[in-house]
Amino acid sequence: MVERGLLIVLSGPSGVGKGTVRKAIFDSEANDFQYSISMTTRKKRIGEVEGVDYYFREREEFEQLIASGEMLEYAEYVGNYYGTPLSYVQKTLDQGKDVFLEIEVQGAQQVKEKVPDGVFIFLTPPDLAELRSRITGRGTDAPDVIDERMRIAREEIEMMALYDYAVVNDEVPLAVKRIKEIIASEHFRVERV
Ligand code: 5GP
Repeated sequence: MVERGLLIVLSGPSGVGKGTVRKAIFDSEANDFQYSISMTTRKKRIGEVEGVDYYFREREEFEQLIASGEMLEYAEYVGNYYGTPLSYVQKTLDQGKDVFLEIEVQGAQQVKEKVPDGVFIFLTPPDLAELRSRITGRGTDAPDVIDERMRIAREEIEMMALYDYAVVNDEVPLAVKRIKEIIASEHFRVERV
């Protein structure tokens, strides 16, 4: 029997840099884990590619997939759905490969309930002021959306207790290194050997 892979969940407040850290992890060499591409109903941003950054879908289709139990988790975030298709995760874990999710905190909470032996990593900003300037500096959101993202971020930081690890995103290469070390160590846990 093939030993099941590990489900690794990277989460944390909006604007903390989860996407940047995740991309840096997958751009770096020698990863033994597979990225699960999320599905979303939000509009594609310039430079984003269908099937690479996300599967971009209409609300109706997304809601059908939820209803038929085809999402491992999903959340509605600033007016759009985001979710993890279940079949890819299941198939890949069954093949003995590790799967990496980069998702917001409501989704991570659902995964924690369904897959309690996953590895849950919370990416934190050095502080909230820094977070606001990063969100504003991105220049893609209107002021009311920024305020909404900040309100969500404050709540999210309180949710850190659910996680196995907290990694500060002070510098991306350092955060990447810490996350890779965590994943490597998880394979040596006594209950997994
Ligand atoms: P963005 O619109 O900036 O790409 O993503 C917004 C938020 O949705 C980010 O916090 C990102 O981590 C989160 N996200 C991306 N994919 C998923 C997913 O599959 N499930 C959940 N719950 N959140 C996701």
